[in-house]
Amino acid sequence: MESIKAPRGTRDILGDESWKWARVLEVSRGVAADFGYREVMLPIFEHTELFSRGIGDTTDVVEKEMYTFTDKGGRSITLRPELTASMMRSYLEHDMNRAAQPAKLWSWGPMFRYERPQKGRYRQFSQIDFETLGSPSPLADVETIDASMELFRRLGLSNLQVLINSVGCPECRPVYRETLKKFFSDRINDLCETCQGRFERNPLRILDCKKPGCRDLTGLAPSVTDSLCGECGAHFDAVTSGLSRIGVSVSVDNRLVRGLDYYTKTAYEILAGELGSQNAVCGGGRYDNLAEAIGGPHVPGVGFASGIDRIIITMEGQGACVGDEPKTDIFVIAAAPDAEIDAAALAHELRASGLSADMDFMGRSLKARMKQASQCGALYACIIGPDEKSSGSVAIKDMRSGEQETLPMSSAAARLSLAIGERAR
Ligand code: ATP
Ligand code: MG
Repeated sequence: MESIKAPRGTRDILGDESWKWARVLEVSRGVAADFGYREVMLPIFEHTELFSRGIGDTTDVVEKEMYTFTDKGGRSITLRPELTASMMRSYLEHDMNRAAQPAKLWSWGPMFRYERPQKGRYRQFSQIDFETLGSPSPLADVETIDASMELFRRLGLSNLQVLINSVGCPECRPVYRETLKKFFSDRINDLCETCQGRFERNPLRILDCKKPGCRDLTGLAPSVTDSLCGECGAHFDAVTSGLSRIGVSVSVDNRLVRGLDYYTKTAYEILAGELGSQNAVCGGGRYDNLAEAIGGPHVPGVGFASGIDRIIITMEGQGACVGDEPKTDIFVIAAAPDAEIDAAALAHELRASGLSADMDFMGRSLKARMKQASQCGALYACIIGPDEKSSGSVAIKDMRSGEQETLPMSSAAARLSLAIGERAR
């Protein structure tokens, strides 16, 4: 029988990588705390309608990428492809709009999109997601972008490029849509097939096309900035000058769009060179009409989502500081057949006093166990041989200096705690 492998587009995050994920989440948690975002944990599947209404029927995500199935109760269910719509659903469902505004929420976890798998693009991937719900202020946009950049700064990432644009609002976007259509109408045959389809349904999304032929054209297209209404123009200026005030440098990219009505004003992306064509580590912006699209009242919102898989690829590519893989402090070695249980008891006691300890229980030789101790990066080995066993003591070997001392078993944990605490200082 052929052995079963993980499904295409998924992957196992093994021990040599998972500690980096833990680190990224620890840093995210710190940023969330410093910026006042509270963590929420949301379901991995939702009613399909939340996404078809909340992301939009004409997006790639909804048109082609969703994992949708009918459950045993006949409901159409979708594995979440992103978190913003779920965050807004949760905010509305729990009447957070009645409490003091805004609600600043963050979450993280696996997302699912049926995409063509390649480096940095998977069918199951994870995102960190920060959202500020309930405030129309441009300072909320500035804070969102600052929080994402602070996250990357703390993770030691460099060479990041922040692209920013405004996609306007339902007042001014229709004007821009017409301007764009007029521009493309003479050149429709130069567009790719997908974009020819977008021309009627959603011409703004043509700007997003990565195909070289379309990019040549979109480079010449009229810029959205010239079509913004007074309010959207003022918002955009407030966001860019706010960012400049805090020293976040951004490039305006008029081709950055979200072609849907409830995405409003600010759209931004953060790119990292290390990622090749999957180069976005973060995407975000404002969505003042999302709540209404999913059946709620008017709730302005702004936020970002960042892919953890891509953060880690970028960190590895840049040799960014992730810290070190956590090591075991102490390796306990029984060097006499009847000392195995004493070794186990000592490991128990060491862990109870706050140290990390490990031991062998595969019956390896003393030599093999000493090798294990150095391989696991232990600072000390605790050896219980026949002499130690009979006198109730333990030999403690400093793995770096090679120095060894013998102590009563009862004082080993306290002595080691002190020594390891001193080293950490
Ligand atoms: P892309 O243009 O790369 O497809 P996107 O616009 O679809 O990105 P968003 O929906 O804005 O991405 O999601 C936010 C972030 O999630 C992205 O910037 C990226 O870091 C990450 N991401 C999105 N899709 C994937 C995927 N299939 N695999 C891994 N990470 C992903
Ligand atoms: Mg995508």
